Amino acid sequence: MAKVLTVGEILVEIVATTKGDGFREAQPLIGPFPSGAPAIFIDQVGKLGTPCAILGRIGDDDFGQLNLDRLRADGVDVSGVEIAPGESTGSAFVRYREDGSRVFVFNIANAACGTLPATPHGRAVMDGCTHMHVMGTALAAPGLAARAMEAIEVIRKNGGTLSFDPNLRPEILNTPGLREALDNVLEQTDLFLPSGDEIFLFTEAQTEAEAAAELLERGVRDIVIKRGADGASHFNAGGRTDAAAIAVEELDPTGAGDCFGGAFVSFWLNGADPATALTHANAAGARAVTRLGPMEGTSTRAELATLLATTETA
Ligand code: ATP
Ligand code: MG
Repeated sequence: MAKVLTVGEILVEIVATTKGDGFREAQPLIGPFPSGAPAIFIDQVGKLGTPCAILGRIGDDDFGQLNLDRLRADGVDVSGVEIAPGESTGSAFVRYREDGSRVFVFNIANAACGTLPATPHGRAVMDGCTHMHVMGTALAAPGLAARAMEAIEVIRKNGGTLSFDPNLRPEILNTPGLREALDNVLEQTDLFLPSGDEIFLFTEAQTEAEAAAELLERGVRDIVIKRGADGASHFNAGGRTDAAAIAVEELDPTGAGDCFGGAFVSFWLNGADPATALTHANAAGARAVTRLGPMEGTSTRAELATLLATTETA
């Protein structure tokens, strides 16, 4: 059976329970919740029973322990997670505005999760995995990119496959060297999972269909476009498959894309057809938005089945 690896930030998220513009005044808060895009992704993979591991770094504190406990409980191999004495686990404070946009205060680049030195046990974890999921955020972090690229190389050499979620805010794209790293990763990608306009990151094409055709031509085997409440689409040599979103009440959209990705990758690796993988990934994304806290809405197979059996598409 395939074993999935991801590399990147493990952090906690603390959420303001009021809506409004940021943190210039005291707000009631709820949290800490386990978080970090790669951590949410891999937790979803683990919950579906697909063997998986994460490489990352936490402080020797309760925020780190909270993450370790959750990931372990959900089936993730955390033997490659490094505990950095004297450093603090990364954190993100988030407050939603009335219009649904978010204001963040990050403590990530300077926290334990901001670097990931090479270690023998990290290398052993890479050697034991057969699929690598790359988060663009890991490539954008100077202290993590080398480790992500090492994992890609090891898994590729061992005959494994690669999935890639750019997960990038446009302003990070100017980070020196990032463009080249992204291009390099795309050339090796089997399964590409952009959100909305991220499909245009690597092509001059003007339409989504042209962009997808060009990327398939360049060697990507499967492409899935995530569209939030508008559902998702899959493209491969066999054609195009669309799935409408499942109608749910959105409470907290953070993490939907990561849950969607974790579910799609699990089904894809287990040989599911595109429609089945898409339907279940859609359900994972929908469940994610109904829970407060980015990792609180990851799903078991039974939870996905229940949602699919009881709801209509939007
Ligand atoms: P993130 O903000 O975590 O980076 P993303 O932009 O990568 O997310 P989205 O497109 O927002 O990903 O969401 C991923 C998937 O989750 C969607 O394709 C859809 O299947 C599901 N989803 C997201 N929002 C909703 C919603 N409001 N209702 C139902 N399903 C949703
Ligand atoms: Mg989104």
